[in-house]
Amino acid sequence: MRPRLLVAADPSLPRQAPPGTEAIVVGAGVAGVSAATVLAERGVAVTLVEAAATLGGRLGAWPVTLPDGSEQVVEHGFHAFFRQYYTWRDVLRRIDPGLGFLRPVEGYPVISRRFPPEDLGGLPAAPPLNLLALFARSASLTLRDLAGADVALGTELLTFDRHRTTTLLDTMSAGDFLAGLRVSDRAREMLFEAFARSFFCDPQGLSAAELVAMFHFYFLANPEGIGFDAPRTDHLHAIWAPLAEYLRARGATIRTGCALRSLRPDGPGWALELGDGATLTSRHVVLALDPGALRDVAAASPELASVAPRLAGQAAALTTAPPFVVTRLWLGADVDASRAVFSAVSGEATLDSVTVYSRLEEPSARWARETGGCVLELHSYACTEPDGAADRMVAELAALWPETAGVAHVHRVDRSDATAPAFPPGSAGTRPGVRTDARGVRVAGDFVEAPLVCGLMERAAVTGVLAAADVLAEVGATGVDVYGVPQRGLLAGLPSRARHRAIGQRPL
Ligand SMILES: Cc1cc2nc3c(=O)[nH]c(=O)nc-3n(C[C@H](O)[C@H](O)[C@H](O)COP(=O)(O)OP(=O)(O)OC[C@H]3O[C@@H](n4cnc5c(N)ncnc54)[C@H](O)[C@@H]3O)c2cc1C
Repeated sequence: MRPRLLVAADPSLPRQAPPGTEAIVVGAGVAGVSAATVLAERGVAVTLVEAAATLGGRLGAWPVTLPDGSEQVVEHGFHAFFRQYYTWRDVLRRIDPGLGFLRPVEGYPVISRRFPPEDLGGLPAAPPLNLLALFARSASLTLRDLAGADVALGTELLTFDRHRTTTLLDTMSAGDFLAGLRVSDRAREMLFEAFARSFFCDPQGLSAAELVAMFHFYFLANPEGIGFDAPRTDHLHAIWAPLAEYLRARGATIRTGCALRSLRPDGPGWALELGDGATLTSRHVVLALDPGALRDVAAASPELASVAPRLAGQAAALTTAPPFVVTRLWLGADVDASRAVFSAVSGEATLDSVTVYSRLEEPSARWARETGGCVLELHSYACTEPDGAADRMVAELAALWPETAGVAHVHRVDRSDATAPAFPPGSAGTRPGVRTDARGVRVAGDFVEAPLVCGLMERAAVTGVLAAADVLAEVGATGVDVYGVPQRGLLAGLPSRARHRAIGQRPL
């Protein structure tokens, strides 16, 4: 299988925007910087406005000083750069054409106290070979585990079709879908629940249609296999400093530490009121905020509701996922040599993943070499009780990796935020798309409806470049080609009436 061209630019139009075209992009995460990159390359005078002191949003990174006086950069969290992230990788090729700053992360184990580890890495790329290989080597999925499985519901994973799957499954929770599959506890916990939580939602708070779409995007239809890469050094030096330089070299103005408060119509364009008292005006605006921030800005912009009731209503309805908690630990001793760089964790109340940073990126590796210690990062993705969560993650890790119990914490950085989008049951069709009814305003981000199936960073990048393409379309320039995974499941199109009936009758 090859990446599919899903959105094609019109080659008959000029590449460059007419001289004098200006745009404001608000929010400098993956979505905003992707939009700004395309616009700046096409000759648009871009102003990028970011509330935080640093670029990157949820992929951002900033320096901290350790008690020994050394400086280390910490990220918002370990990120897996999956290989089917065609658009995000294309943006990153602007700063490193060969993507040499990324290194493969071997293996993708799911670990648990209750069950033997499951490795989702290194599977063949194409379905059905990936499924057959998973069965052949899985400790969780054996034919016995599947003996009582609900075939009709299970088939939904293979018959993904965006419209049909949404119609059928959006009002069901991922938790009910997984319970309804009736696979063994082991298969449910080790394969599906760990996967569902990495979308920052408890399975009961996630739409089953979104879960099936993400299973399709990351696994069943992924032409690149489930392997992923990660930067060899911290995100600040690997990604954000070079991208800022790239943008500035193309004339973009970057204003950090500067929050958008509200916006109002202003002649043919928009006036944006910033937290520092400044007002910026432009015909073209890309709002690339996290969902809670977009909701707040829309609520503080009373005129938006009268000129763009659909966008105002969609923004008001946006919900955020429970907080995520990230703890970076500098330990006085190394963990066992057998520990994988990244492990998903299943069955713990708080801990969802652990990354051995000192086996991942060079600055942490150097610190570990010099001190004999190691650097770990612990994540909790949908943490309803963030108070004390970091301590609970440390305790849960000690139960999984006993060598970490009692080891001195040389330093520790804990942080928690609630900026991830929620995709609750019944929410399909309620989120904004890239184009809005506010003429001249586009929306981008990992919660925005995209015309193709994609998730997380890739969804942010896809909606970002499509927002830029929409600005270019308005000024008569050509857009961008966007590639993606096959959009329908392996068995989509098989007669399904009987299956619908069976699922419709189930009291879920
Ligand atoms: C711990 C963790 C682990 C993750 N792991 C992965 C992973 O492995 N793979 C993956 O693909 N994704 C992962 N993600 C998700 C990924 O980080 C997001 O999908 C992506 O970064 C979202 O980008 P965005 O541009 O849509 O939003 P954001 O990154 O949230 O960017 C929005 C920006 O808007 C700014 N802003 C907010 N309000 C204002 C305002 N009023 N004015 C101006 N600016 C404002 C914010 O400061 C921010 O910079 C992870 C996220 C976290 C937190």
